[in-house]
Amino acid sequence: MKVLVPETEIQAAIAKLAGEIHAQYQDRPLTVLGVLTGSVILLADLIRQIELPLRVGLLQASSYRGATTTAGDFVINPDFIPDIANRDVLLLDDILDTGQTLTRILEQVQTLKPRSIRTAVLLWKHERTTFEVQPDYHCFRIPDEFVVGYGLDYDDHYRNLPYIATLDDEDIAATGN
Ligand code: 5GP
Ligand code: MG
Ligand code: MG
Repeated sequence: MKVLVPETEIQAAIAKLAGEIHAQYQDRPLTVLGVLTGSVILLADLIRQIELPLRVGLLQASSYRGATTTAGDFVINPDFIPDIANRDVLLLDDILDTGQTLTRILEQVQTLKPRSIRTAVLLWKHERTTFEVQPDYHCFRIPDEFVVGYGLDYDDHYRNLPYIATLDDEDIAATGN
């Protein structure tokens, strides 16, 4: 395991992000929409630092299957999206890679007629972003390496690490199966 972003840097970046969000949405009806499953740690840490009334929603979208980095079938489950008509929406994801996920989700969420949508991601692999989407907020730009931790998984392992790391062969072997 090699740590790419330590816990202290993540927490400092989230405090800064919370300040920017606070300034942007003062007195506005904010809904924070987290993309399952990778954004849940970020969602939990971030919303506790935003001192504004807000609602929380979740949506499921997946372009990745298992541990691979090949795009598979793209699935969006809107069942847990609350009513966002006329509300300001902040869409949260763990990482912006090719941009397909955020592009597809934005298309779908737009149909629900929010007043505005902005996007925030913890990590941005900007060299890999081929879709025409940019995050309104991002905490760290990272190189084109597969990372885990702070919500990001390898085959559903390692989401609980409080830092962002790359894996060695033995870390992959340790996941069993
Ligand atoms: P995109 O649609 O932008 O290509 O990919 C975004 C999604 O792919 C993220 O929400 C995340 O689930 C997954 N992903 C992209 N890069 C990585 C990575 O380095 N590690 C992990 N664990 N997931 C990634
Ligand atoms: Mg994801
Ligand atoms: Mg994953």
